Amino acid sequence: MDGSCDDVGGERTALEDVGVLLADQGLSDAFFLERGLVKYGDAEAGNLVVVQVDEDGREHELVTGAGEAWLELRDAAQAEGVLLEMVSAYRSVERQAEIVRGKFLRGLGVDEIFAVSAAPGFSEHHTGRAVDISTPGYGVLEEEFEESAAFGWLEENAGRYGFTMTYGKGNAYGYLYEPWHWVWG
Ligand SMILES: [Zn+2]
Repeated sequence: MDGSCDDVGGERTALEDVGVLLADQGLSDAFFLERGLVKYGDAEAGNLVVVQVDEDGREHELVTGAGEAWLELRDAAQAEGVLLEMVSAYRSVERQAEIVRGKFLRGLGVDEIFAVSAAPGFSEHHTGRAVDISTPGYGVLEEEFEESAAFGWLEENAGRYGFTMTYGKGNAYGYLYEPWHWVWG
């Protein structure tokens, strides 16, 4: 890393730090907008409801409609013997910035970071309508999820509950295939 990274981690927010790190790489919002991504703000999400609490107390939130649809989807799957677990749901812009800043500080390159992570502001998780899904026996946030019965069930049924998979194979956004990422509405 070059000396400009000495500035990182001071009084600034993670979002401001990422802005500096991106500027160092000659990147701005335009780079992500050109990929066809949409920029969101924190206000995008509106009313959030807690839809899952993990054993460690971590809460997962979605906007009301998405939360209701998720619970219906999950219960319908479970009734057919398919377990769907929520790995990640709503995420604030600042939380996304912390994730991306962490990757920069670990020395990952821009290509590596933005193949799997959204830039802060550009994640569908900011909307409170996106869910990352896992199922027992398959790596979490791993492509092998597509081989699971859970993925097969989602492909068949998720649409009826308003969910679609947005980062398919060869997507134009520059992301790797994410069979676990589904968005409501
Ligand atoms: Zn996701």
